[in-house]
Amino acid sequence: MKLIDSLVTQAAGIAAVRRDLHAHPELCFEEVRTADVVAGKLTEWGIPIHRGLGTTGVVGIVKNGTSTRAVGLRADMDALPVTELNTFAHASQHHGKMHACGHDGHTAMLLAAAQHLAERGRFDGTLNLIFQPAEEGGGGAVRMIDDGLFERYPCDAIFAMHNMPGMAQGRLAMREGPAMASSDYATITLTGVGGHGAMPHRAADPIVAAASIVMALQSVVSRNIDPLQMAVVTVGAIHAGKANNVIPQGAVLEVSVRALDREVRKKIETRIKALVAAQAESFGVQAQIDWRPGYAVLVNTPEETAFARTVAEELVGPAQVTWQTPPLPGSEDFAFMLERVPGCYLLIGNGDGDAHGACMVHNPGYDFNDSNVAVGGAYWVLLTERFLRAEG
Ligand SMILES: [Zn+2]
Ligand SMILES: [Zn+2]
Repeated sequence: MKLIDSLVTQAAGIAAVRRDLHAHPELCFEEVRTADVVAGKLTEWGIPIHRGLGTTGVVGIVKNGTSTRAVGLRADMDALPVTELNTFAHASQHHGKMHACGHDGHTAMLLAAAQHLAERGRFDGTLNLIFQPAEEGGGGAVRMIDDGLFERYPCDAIFAMHNMPGMAQGRLAMREGPAMASSDYATITLTGVGGHGAMPHRAADPIVAAASIVMALQSVVSRNIDPLQMAVVTVGAIHAGKANNVIPQGAVLEVSVRALDREVRKKIETRIKALVAAQAESFGVQAQIDWRPGYAVLVNTPEETAFARTVAEELVGPAQVTWQTPPLPGSEDFAFMLERVPGCYLLIGNGDGDAHGACMVHNPGYDFNDSNVAVGGAYWVLLTERFLRAEG
């Protein structure tokens, strides 16, 4: 626990920065003040920075020695459109916006590591500190990648960490392989022929077609997907018709899809498109599908995840580490970075039981646990020093 202890004093200062960020939350791609704070701190510690990747992203580069090896550590910076119910001094000052997912804390943990490594880092190689905008649905990771993140700052491996309420504070958990689900969305628009409810033979009824499609879609998971694989197809909305004696002209279905495997994800899309086309044909209506891919399946690579585990066990001891923690049904845009560079996305416990940090993320009563600034910061320090191990 020596390394954590050495970060505690310094982490107290960074925790104050964390509370300042919490009081001034900014939504997707609006993280201007947050990016200013991050850039200001990195500059204060003598770390060269580059701004503007993915609009408000910040990259800091800490180079030591002569090795060409490089590691990337990523923190997200954005808040959520949630109205905070907490009344403590650092509660949100921006009504309707809140750091309800702890990205203020993720930023703080990476800042704590940056300060320590810039001043006392014992490693040989390049550390890329990646502060990302718009994780909450905005795909900020993709925007940074499109702006040349990995061409400009090549990384041999990349890591990120998310806090997890309901898990003991400071406990670390990771999983090799698929760890978070993909999310895709589809809008199905059916166009029939409207008419009189008493003369259905003179119309093409989109409501009957929609009803049949809803039932047909239930067979995708039950009949087309391996029972041992996780998959969800949900029709969350149907819009059609206004009166009992009118057959409407059209109907609209809203569908959401989750999967934990890239092949399963593709299969679901193929089957939904085929079923909708065949069903529409059989009812004599037209179908149009607007398919909107969301976040990819997040897949942690074996070697880097095993490495993340050894670092965790060295830092907090094996008893405080959960290996092969169950996958999460939520989605995360770090998945796109992991499609480009091997790495691991791990979890850090925010507190359990009656603890302050046990309140779930996205809840209006949530707050990041400041005790984790030292633990998370120390984890990033140790991971960097082990990955970019200096000889002798
Ligand atoms: Zn979130
Ligand atoms: Zn989050």
